[in-house]
Parts: sequence; C-alpha cells; structure tokens
Amino acid sequence: MDDRLFRTAMGRFATGVTVITTKINGIVHGMTANAFVSVSLNPKLILVSIGEQAQMNQLLKESGQFAVSILNENQEDMSAYFAGQIKEERTIEFDNFNGIEVIKDSIASMTCTVQNSVVAGDHTLFIAEVTDLRIQDGEPLLFYGGNYRNIK
Ligand code: FAD
Ligand code: NAD
Repeated sequence: MDDRLFRTAMGRFATGVTVITTKINGIVHGMTANAFVSVSLNPKLILVSIGEQAQMNQLLKESGQFAVSILNENQEDMSAYFAGQIKEERTIEFDNFNGIEVIKDSIASMTCTVQNSVVAGDHTLFIAEVTDLRIQDGEPLLFYGGNYRNIK
C-alpha cells in the first residue's frame, strides 16, 4: 500500500493537537503529537505514539516522565514549531506544572509517568499514568487532512 494513501486516509480522522514535554538534567524537550489517546479511567491511563526517529522517543525511555499540553485554537504556530517546521530557534516561556514544563494557555495539561512502552512498527506506544492535570478555558486546535482547523 502507498504511504501517501495511508496518510491521506489517517488524515480523515480529525484530532486535536498536543505538545509532549519532558526534562532530562534540567533540559526541556518538546514535540508536537496528535497520536494521543485516552486509554483507561481506573487507573487513569493515556497513550502517545512516538516515531523511532524522533528525539523524544529516546528521551521518554530515559526520563519515564512527561507532560501533555492540549493546544488551543490560536496555537498553530506552537504546533508547527514543536514539529520542527519553523527553523528559527526560539526561547519558549513554559508554565511550570508540578515540576514539568507545559505550554502556556493550553486548554488542558497533564503530568504522566510511563507505565509501559510497546514497540509497534516504526513507533513506540508509551502508556502512562496521569498523575495530575489542569484545564483552562479555550477552544481546541484541530488537525484534519494535514491542515489546521478551528471548531467553528
Ligand atoms: P525536534 O524535531 O528536534 O524538535 C522539535 C522542535 O522543537 C525543534 O525546532 C526544536 O528546536 C524545538 N524545541 C524542542 N524543545 C525545545 C525547548 N525546550 N525550547 C525551545 N525549542 C525547543 N510525530 C510522532 O512521532 N507522533 C505523533 O503523534 C506526531 N503527531 C504530529 C502531529 C502534527 C500536527 C505534526 C505537525 C507533527 C506530528 N508529528 C508526530 C511529527 C513530529 O512532531 C516531528 O517529527 C518532530 O520534529 C519530532 O520531534 P523530535 O523529538 O525529533 O524533536
Ligand atoms: P500527513 O498527511 O502526513 O498526516 C495525516 C495523518 O497521517 C496524521 O494525522 C497521522 O494520523 C498519519 N501519519 C502521518 N505521518 C505518519 C507517520 N510517520 N506515522 C504514522 N502515522 C502518520 O500530514 P502532514 O501535514 O504532512 O504532517 C506533517 C508531518 O508530521 C509529516 O512529516 C508527518 O509524517 C508528521 N506526522 C507524524 C505523525 C506520527 O508519527 N504519528 C502524525 C502526524 C503527523
């Protein structure tokens, strides 16, 4: 099967957009991800799927902890930046939530501890327990057909 056809079909599944953050030796790393799933209520588990080529993959294996920030409708630029699509280096002013940096003004942020990781093809599924979360007002940024959308 053609890769482009697969991506086009998967792109028909509209999602929100998150930025995953983790910290090792005081250095914060962020990455845009839409492969985010709410998995279990008891215990409270989520899943993120991270490509084997992404720096984040190795970093999560080392840190075992990360945060997920769900972006608001005005944060397209933040999504593109943490996907490596904007080449200039920026100094990002994060919020600190329970010791982990999260994206300011995201509509939900959560801190997570990795419980299990499963290699699946060219990605790793990180299944993690949500240790704390907070929600803030706002509408979500959407990703559909390879483009950003708003809910209205
Ligand atoms: P890099 O590409 O090295 O870093 C990303 C960018 O963030 C770089 O510009 C870097 O300089 C900057 N950066 C990181 N940390 C900081 C910091 N602390 N301060 C300032 N700048 C910083 N890939 C997946 O594997 N899974 C997904 O679910 C997924 N979903 C995506 C959804 C969307 C909408 C998009 C656009 C991309 C998605 N990707 C996904 C692709 C992924 O975001 C990119 O491949 C990304 O570049 C891989 O990140 P990396 O860890 O290799 O980090
Ligand atoms: P696109 O058309 O590549 O993405 C549409 C959909 O295809 C995505 O929502 C995702 O479900 C799927 N997809 C894309 N690349 C994938 C991959 N490598 N592995 C598994 N599923 C994938 O949209 P785009 O605007 O060209 O994407 C921008 C960049 O971000 C591309 O380089 C793309 O590969 C990457 N991306 C990766 C993932 C992922 O790894 N899960 C998800 C979204 C986007």
